[in-house]
Amino acid sequence: MRATVAYIYTEHLRHNLREVRGRIAPRTKMCVAVKADAYGHGAVTCAKIAVEEGADFLAVAAVSEGAELRAAGIDVPVLLLSLCQPDEMDELVANDLTPLVCDADYGDAVASAVRRAGRQGYAVHLAVDTGMGRIGCYPRDAAALAGHIVGTGVLALGGMCTHFAVSDSPAPDDKTYTDEQFSRFSQAVAAVRAAGIDPGICHCCNSAATLERPECHLDMVRPGIIVYGYYPDGKPRAYYERRGIPIDLRPVMALVTKVAAVRPLERGMSVSYGRTWAAERDTTLGVLPVGYADGLFRRFAPVMRVGVNGKPYPIRGRICMDQCMIDLGADAVERWSAAVLFGPKESGAAQSAQELADATGTISYEITSAITRRVPRLYL
Ligand SMILES: *Cc1c(COP(=O)(O)O)cnc(C)c1O
Repeated sequence: MRATVAYIYTEHLRHNLREVRGRIAPRTKMCVAVKADAYGHGAVTCAKIAVEEGADFLAVAAVSEGAELRAAGIDVPVLLLSLCQPDEMDELVANDLTPLVCDADYGDAVASAVRRAGRQGYAVHLAVDTGMGRIGCYPRDAAALAGHIVGTGVLALGGMCTHFAVSDSPAPDDKTYTDEQFSRFSQAVAAVRAAGIDPGICHCCNSAATLERPECHLDMVRPGIIVYGYYPDGKPRAYYERRGIPIDLRPVMALVTKVAAVRPLERGMSVSYGRTWAAERDTTLGVLPVGYADGLFRRFAPVMRVGVNGKPYPIRGRICMDQCMIDLGADAVERWSAAVLFGPKESGAAQSAQELADATGTISYEITSAITRRVPRLYL
């Protein structure tokens, strides 16, 4: 097997899921986001573990992702969080995925597919845009859309949802914005009820709101990133402790490779494309068989530190498509020693994906979900 692998600490995943489950009321359902291959961690294995740990629903972004879960025998309800094309809707229905309906036209397309399949009473959730500016109907149109959905004769309103734009921000303006989003959603739900239609399962909380806004949990929460071990918006654990929300999250993924070559590098020699770095003194170069085609972004150099034998080493020069180089200084490192790019403490990493994200102006989500397919996921 290739040296570059992503270890998935399944015990950490279970631990994080239990932390979430323990924060919500027993009657509140848990919908675990496993879109984008479970944020890069492997959808099928993570979904199975999530269901074992009490997930009532799963959430994906593409019909193909939902179909993958069904092919693996996973039979809990699966929400489709993004919109699909009309020509994907037969597959959507065949796989019993629950779409978010945001307008009459889209609802009609789902209804047609349900009729083609000879089915009825097919559950959809009505998405309300309360201020995310993405998908959903305006709150004032929710009752009419709910009426349209049940009026198709083949669709049932299984639930209603909205999505928060700034629930991870402690800024007073953002808190107010989230309050307003929640109140618009509550009004939309009330309007549907007033129209004599049962709104079904009501849900609006992503990870941040699951932690910070128990009053918004309603019937179901939709955590994603916290399940994979990262605090929303990269806030440190202490931030949540100060707010009276102690939660212990453990990163689930470690990206690991091996030192494929150890080479003396003479003073004055440059390393990699563009010759952005040259040795000021004689040193030792470690060559790692991992690069941006594995998801190790070029912008990680030069800030990233690679853990070898528990010590951090800097990347030298640009990260290439399939390789990168670290400076081992005067240390004697054996060829094929493990080199950890990021991960939880016990992986031997010099930093977590969160620290790497903070140092490179991105978010943990982008780092783990960008690890490409040629990196095997190994489940510990
Ligand atoms: C991705 C997603 C979530 C989960 O978001 P996290 O920030 O990872 O908790 C919840 N709801 C919707 C609609 C999403 O797209």
